[in-house]
Amino acid sequence: MSELKSHTVDEAGLAAFLTALVRARSVNPPGHEGAVAALMAEKLEALGFDVTTVEAAPRRPSVVGRLAGTGNGPALLFNGHMDTQPPGTQWTRDPFAAIVEDGVLYGQGAMDMKAGLTAIVFGVDTLQRAGRQLIGDVVVTAVADEVCGGHLGTGYLAAEGLIQADMAVVCEPTGDTVRVAHRGALWLEIEVLGKSAHGGRPWLGVNAVSKAARIVAALEDELVPSMQDRTHALLPAPTINIGSLHGGTKTNLVADQAVIEIDRRMVPGEDADAAEAEIFDLCERLRAADPDDWSFTIKRLMHVTPGEIDPEAAIVKACQAAHQTVTGENAVIGSTAGFEDAHFLLDIGIPTAMYGPYRRTEKNEDPHFTNSGMADEAVHLGDVARAARIYAQLMIDTLGEAK
Ligand SMILES: [Zn+2]
Repeated sequence: MSELKSHTVDEAGLAAFLTALVRARSVNPPGHEGAVAALMAEKLEALGFDVTTVEAAPRRPSVVGRLAGTGNGPALLFNGHMDTQPPGTQWTRDPFAAIVEDGVLYGQGAMDMKAGLTAIVFGVDTLQRAGRQLIGDVVVTAVADEVCGGHLGTGYLAAEGLIQADMAVVCEPTGDTVRVAHRGALWLEIEVLGKSAHGGRPWLGVNAVSKAARIVAALEDELVPSMQDRTHALLPAPTINIGSLHGGTKTNLVADQAVIEIDRRMVPGEDADAAEAEIFDLCERLRAADPDDWSFTIKRLMHVTPGEIDPEAAIVKACQAAHQTVTGENAVIGSTAGFEDAHFLLDIGIPTAMYGPYRRTEKNEDPHFTNSGMADEAVHLGDVARAARIYAQLMIDTLGEAK
């Protein structure tokens, strides 16, 4: 295994490219990843990739690039999302200016995950500048829509058969951790319909807000505790968050309608249909036991299946080995309570690890819940360059070098 010297990364070019990606706004919703996609496509083409851009919906492009090796090697996919969370109101800097202070670049999506996209292309660039040639193919998918579930990005590419690879890395910010599992999410809207009446004669109506409140209480007091035995070695047990509860129109009217929005997180082994059925059954039990006449419907807003890979899988071991080679440190095995695009790749049979750059802090906290999507999101440029070197090493280790 041959190593790459640190000075081969074009650090000025890397900083300029990440700056351009951050300035190309891609807040989702609405996404509109076109400016980022154009930058990625241009860069990949300059590196010799065959590039195609596809749109799952108007203004929702994803970029697929393939850099052919010298032949008869495996294909390694790097996947990164181009969309970002909205910036929120707490920023102390312009979230789209890509301001650099003390080697740290601040920007919406700087870490999650325009840093990952940058590390991918500068990993390839680093190899080319060093005159190294790979036997296998490097495949890159820069995708739309991940922060809203990925169905218009990685999900679309997978469903359309546009992803061919033997192993994959999803370049989410994980720092010194290789993630092997993520939870799934099921977002539901429960609409409760009662019967309107004057507030002075509530016995003539059926209050939908009151019924919705009973559903909320039953979800939290009965269903959530019953799910706690669905344990996973690396992930929190399933959870339910009541995201919103709206209902009624006026103080002196019996509310005839209420809507609950819930976010049900699933562990590997659970599926969305069963999770939805469980919630339906709970609502139906409350309704059937109630002498009042009310009804409910459940609408699925979004779902992401959970994903996991064996920590002993070759791509996981390869990420750890490349990390060790470049940094001299061990990369630990971890997971995320959030959701990611990895399951789309795992579901089509591509062994997939989650591993990418983020701003290291003193506290060993999950980056997705300390920095990503929060005010003053930032990444150390040194960490991005380090990730580029690690990705380059990973390409050599997994795809082989032509002599
Ligand atoms: Zn992300």
